[in-house]
Amino acid sequence: MRAVIYARYSSSSQREASIEQQIEKCTDYAERNGLVIVKTYADKAMTGRNDDRPNLQRLLSDCSKNIFDVVLIYAMDRFGRNVLQSLENAYIIETENNKRIISITENFDDSSMGRFFRTLQMATAQMRSDDMSERIRLGMKYNSERCLYNGGGVPLGYKIVNQRFVINPDTAPIVKMIFELYAEGVTVTEISNRLNAQGAKTSTGASFNKNSLHTMLKNKRYLGYYIHKGNEVPNAIPQIISDELFEKVAKRMEANKRAPARAKAKIDYILTTKLFCGHCKKMMTGFSGKGHLKKVYRYYICNGTKERPKTCDKKMVNKEYIEDLVIAECRKLLTEKNIKRIAKEVIAVSDREKDTTNLKCLKKALKENERKHNNTIQAIMESDIESVRKALGEQIPALEEEHKEIQKQIDKEERLFLSLSEADIIFFLTSLKKGNINDIKYRKLLVNVFVNKIFLYDDRITITFNSGDEPVTLTDKLLSELEENGKSAEGLFFEKSAPP
Ligand SMILES: [Zn+2]
Repeated sequence: MRAVIYARYSSSSQREASIEQQIEKCTDYAERNGLVIVKTYADKAMTGRNDDRPNLQRLLSDCSKNIFDVVLIYAMDRFGRNVLQSLENAYIIETENNKRIISITENFDDSSMGRFFRTLQMATAQMRSDDMSERIRLGMKYNSERCLYNGGGVPLGYKIVNQRFVINPDTAPIVKMIFELYAEGVTVTEISNRLNAQGAKTSTGASFNKNSLHTMLKNKRYLGYYIHKGNEVPNAIPQIISDELFEKVAKRMEANKRAPARAKAKIDYILTTKLFCGHCKKMMTGFSGKGHLKKVYRYYICNGTKERPKTCDKKMVNKEYIEDLVIAECRKLLTEKNIKRIAKEVIAVSDREKDTTNLKCLKKALKENERKHNNTIQAIMESDIESVRKALGEQIPALEEEHKEIQKQIDKEERLFLSLSEADIIFFLTSLKKGNINDIKYRKLLVNVFVNKIFLYDDRITITFNSGDEPVTLTDKLLSELEENGKSAEGLFFEKSAPP
């Protein structure tokens, strides 16, 4: 697996590890776990409050590119100015971009409840954003029922006026020409060459190519269909291409069609970065191999066995088997009693984390302001001298303005913390308990929220959960299942054949 390192040093604390130390520790970890470092990002101390972290921004934007799978970090607090900013950035990396974060020291809050709090925060944030996309979806439905423009790209040949599709007299002739040329037998390559030579542009302002032309030639909107989320409403927008011409083009395309390359399904190894080899303590990662009759088998494999020469001889473990086992253990945690206990503890941690230094300062400033305000009022009331009363009175509006400003900042700081109530958490965990066990999204969420580390031995497995303090060891159960599965044709473990 490919990893990047993020290191940051701020001069605020003398006890902080230097950038070099952080990178060294992370590199060490990577070596021990068979991760390949492909890039290192580091932000040196910024003076004063200026804390832009340009390389953190670079890392965040690189997340959308497929250049790494894991972010190694010395400690979670490297990710931001405060706990919340760190959480937000961790959310971007893990949830929005599906990368993993591994914190080497995990001193965000060392308690298991602290870790659990962090994952719960992220999970609920994800739930909220799902809720948000639902609302956006509803708004789009409202629009599509009226055949209004729903955002997104506008096909070449149209423009949007008052949220409705109308013909664009400048570009509609280009669309007609493309259909006519193709129907006459001109190839898409030739058409795109001609258009580009004339300086014509696609709806997004790009040059034409095979793909954009193919998309256009198949677009039923040119027949007057309003299309949204698989729903097609005929005669809903102005028609640019006649039925006959569209039909002719479709027939030609069908004839020219080559079998499309089969899309490779993305397989999620949900235990990645959480599953470790019991023998050598290295990480176990996803691996697939073909068995008899070309059936694909998926496994987790100890990274030590991939090294040359091999440093470990742990056998692979069947992916479905180990994932199902871990999911089942997670669900066992979700008893009604446990849910209540977890909710209570998470609230306690949340309250502790909330009291950041920044918030403390602001609250102190607010108190100070209120004290001054009271004193000034008191002085006005006690003074017999008109001019003194007047001078004091003039200070009042400024103090009140300041009060408002501080209050605003406090609200902002507090708002940053998702204010989870005990009821919210109970609701969240209960819905996790009732979730569909086969839904990949649910399986991932469950593992991310609960599982901290899993060590796989030959005869047992230990799981540490984010919410608990004691590792859970599975033995008898595993052994009996191993025996049972070992006999089946699928084969639970398979011996890697020695290289010839
Ligand atoms: Zn191993």
